[in-house]
Amino acid sequence: MTRAVLKIGGGILRSREDLETLAQILKMNSKRENVLVVSALQGVTDALLKAYEAGADITEELRQKHQSYFDVKNAALERGFSELSELLRGKERTIERKERISSFGERLSSILVSEYLNSHGITSVSMNAEDCGIVADGRFENANCVMGKTKENFNSKVIPKIKGRTIVITGYYGIDSKGNVNTFGRGGSDYSAAVVAVAGEAQVLEIWKDVEGFMSADPRVVKDARKLDEITFEEAEELGYLGAKILHPRTMDVLQGSPVFAQIKSVLAPKKEGTRIVEKLGKERTNLISSIASKKGVAIATIKGGKMVDEPGVAADIFVMATKAGVSVDTIATSQSSISFTVDEKDVDKLEAMLKKVENKLFDVFEIKRGLAMIGVVGEEMARKPGSAAGIFTAVAGKGINVELISQAASGINITFMINAERAEDCVRAIHEEFRLGG
Ligand code: ASP
Ligand code: MG
Repeated sequence: MTRAVLKIGGGILRSREDLETLAQILKMNSKRENVLVVSALQGVTDALLKAYEAGADITEELRQKHQSYFDVKNAALERGFSELSELLRGKERTIERKERISSFGERLSSILVSEYLNSHGITSVSMNAEDCGIVADGRFENANCVMGKTKENFNSKVIPKIKGRTIVITGYYGIDSKGNVNTFGRGGSDYSAAVVAVAGEAQVLEIWKDVEGFMSADPRVVKDARKLDEITFEEAEELGYLGAKILHPRTMDVLQGSPVFAQIKSVLAPKKEGTRIVEKLGKERTNLISSIASKKGVAIATIKGGKMVDEPGVAADIFVMATKAGVSVDTIATSQSSISFTVDEKDVDKLEAMLKKVENKLFDVFEIKRGLAMIGVVGEEMARKPGSAAGIFTAVAGKGINVELISQAASGINITFMINAERAEDCVRAIHEEFRLGG
């Protein structure tokens, strides 16, 4: 029998109707063994993190929200709410407490979804990451799963339970060797679903969404954007990092080398093929480019000065310091006497404070430019055939858009550059048109 893991994200857990749709999808697929991995109900993780920051107990609000989806009396759900309330009323500001609070959206939604299915003719049981033995590596807020141990745990704790019922598993987090909650980063339920598919020996992984699949561009920006039938791991990963919030970028690390057939599926057209996510393309593409994404809220920092010319290791020092200051660096370009790199605009204050401390020591001056957007152009065929860069920058220049920093990954499947954020949409449309990606 085919075993499938279905990832149900918060974006399709918006109201009671979505639970109804989910039950229908499961009934349509009743000839398979289905395992669900669920995110928190829409908006709940954000609300929990805000509540932690504000020191507010929002349990009552959350109880009402969950009731509005499905009004059920359930002891496990009640225990969840009271444990959450106690946690939220705690005072200490520790990452351990924050992470535990953050995981409650999934703890609650998994029970709620499972109860809903049970009362709608689908035998179901919920399991959280502790029950399943999803082991995390100890990093807070951006953990990786320890696959070997997790696999062992699945063999004894999960696989024997699959037959005859739909298991609903919490996405987003695992438990480290100290028993702490480690989340896999925002949007981490995709990653969890891949873990469950591989450790649970599923043949199929379906990431359910309310979009058709990966698109040639954001359809809100480009009207004739087309759905892609197939996308490679590398392309999906690049697009994920560019903020095309379709798939958590590390999902593919888990799938690499596994026999799992992964696909994006749409609740709007559950019978239709979505986008297959594959290690290698099934057939050659005619287009050099497969997709264009953009991300606003980017800043470029440039450090300059004679001191750097003969001084090895300045770049390393700067990036180590940035990491320690909690600033993550995305793209880097260097010349003999300057280094430019991009950071998230929200990190600029931290970065500025850090650079001020070493100005005149590691380098002479620095400059930070805000208000930029990162444009990412992705395509497997770009690595094999010439002409992509010429086409991209001809299109961009044609619109009078100034390019700030260009970078191409060694894999050759993407070109990334920065422009004024106000021109981001124009820029995406211009490239889409230049390469006739529309359908
Ligand atoms: N609920 C978590 C978040 O909002 C994980 C997820 O949705 O994938 O980031
Ligand atoms: Mg979410």
